[in-house]
Amino acid sequence: MQETRVWRALLGLQNTVVEGVEFDEDAGAVVVHVRPVASRRGRCGTCRRRSPRFDHGDGRRRWRALDLGTVQAFVEADAPRVACRRHGVTVASVPWARHDAGHTRDFDDTVAWLATVTSKTAVTRLMRVAWRTVGSIVARVWADTGGAVDRLEGLARIGIDEISYRRGQQYLTVIVDHDSGRLVWAAPGNSAATLRTFFDALGETRSAAITHVSADGADWIAVVVAERIPDAVLCADAFHVVQWATAALDQVRIQAWRDARAAARSEPKRGRGAPRKDAPLRPASTLARGIQRSRYALWKNPEDLTERQHAKLAWIATTDPKLYRAYLLKEGLRTIFQLPHDDAVEALDLWLGWARRCRIPAFTKLARSVKKFRDVILNAIAHRLSNSLIESVNAKIRLITRIAFGFKNVDALIALAMLSLGGHRPVLPGRN
Ligand SMILES: [Zn+2]
Repeated sequence: MQETRVWRALLGLQNTVVEGVEFDEDAGAVVVHVRPVASRRGRCGTCRRRSPRFDHGDGRRRWRALDLGTVQAFVEADAPRVACRRHGVTVASVPWARHDAGHTRDFDDTVAWLATVTSKTAVTRLMRVAWRTVGSIVARVWADTGGAVDRLEGLARIGIDEISYRRGQQYLTVIVDHDSGRLVWAAPGNSAATLRTFFDALGETRSAAITHVSADGADWIAVVVAERIPDAVLCADAFHVVQWATAALDQVRIQAWRDARAAARSEPKRGRGAPRKDAPLRPASTLARGIQRSRYALWKNPEDLTERQHAKLAWIATTDPKLYRAYLLKEGLRTIFQLPHDDAVEALDLWLGWARRCRIPAFTKLARSVKKFRDVILNAIAHRLSNSLIESVNAKIRLITRIAFGFKNVDALIALAMLSLGGHRPVLPGRN
């Protein structure tokens, strides 16, 4: 009697009768034979409604439980099927595991918690499960957690973004709360239809409470925002605008490198080893190599540059004035977001004039986009939406899309993102 209570406690089993324990030599694992207490038997796996027994199902089944020390442990029980009035023939629910799961609830919760705090390798090796399995577990745990909380309550200032996953082939639409920095909603797709499902879930009253929306320049976002929350102030996400400028600068840099490399082909070849003193100069080769190595100096914010990178920029200023102008244009646009609103208005118009006349195609094109979004850019500066908060959540979501590579489906990716960034971290079993 005493012994079965110990086993129940060890495996975190509630509403469960322990029938016996054995050591399975073949599996090298402790197997605890159990059955649900009478009041938990014969219930639908989905809705837990008491339902008539249908058949024996697949007979005995095992659920992986948390290891006991270094020894693996399983819970074994019958898995009969019941005929639910609403859900049809389905496996009966068991108190120790989620429906359709091969692991106990405690095992699931531990894996989900680990997945949000540590590396892929650490989770899979510590828990001895495949990464794909981690994905399924995370999806189950989120279905449970997300179903129990209202994630859309109290939203006033939101950020809408589209994030690519699967090597840029597919997109997620994500909604972030500017005030709490939480990820509140995510769904596959990047279209007006996707975004409308968010506002449908939000409902009319709560939609009306939204005062500010930040987004990248996507037209479909602007369309749905105008349609569903016409009174909200639409702002540009500063980091997206700066990203456009960085992308334009990159185009200029790559073109400059290509041009230099093409010119280098007509220069005399040089053999292996150190060049002789009287070797002919090869300016285009030097330029191509220098540009190739200047990438980080051009990308970084000036205040973060190392001394070497400062030198690199000075070198670009003298050897490739056009590339340097492109750099100044990028930096100029970035600086505008740090100015007080009135100064920013003036600076932005000056910048637009400068970019329009700069004779660098990538930046004249950028000038047209910036002009189109002038008002929403200035809105962002006037209303000071917490850009860095959203940017960091966005960076984390992007990281998660890479980590989630190998999960079976997008639901598992969304689940991991929501559990990690939604403010509802899974709780480790046995702690409050
Ligand atoms: Zn049911």
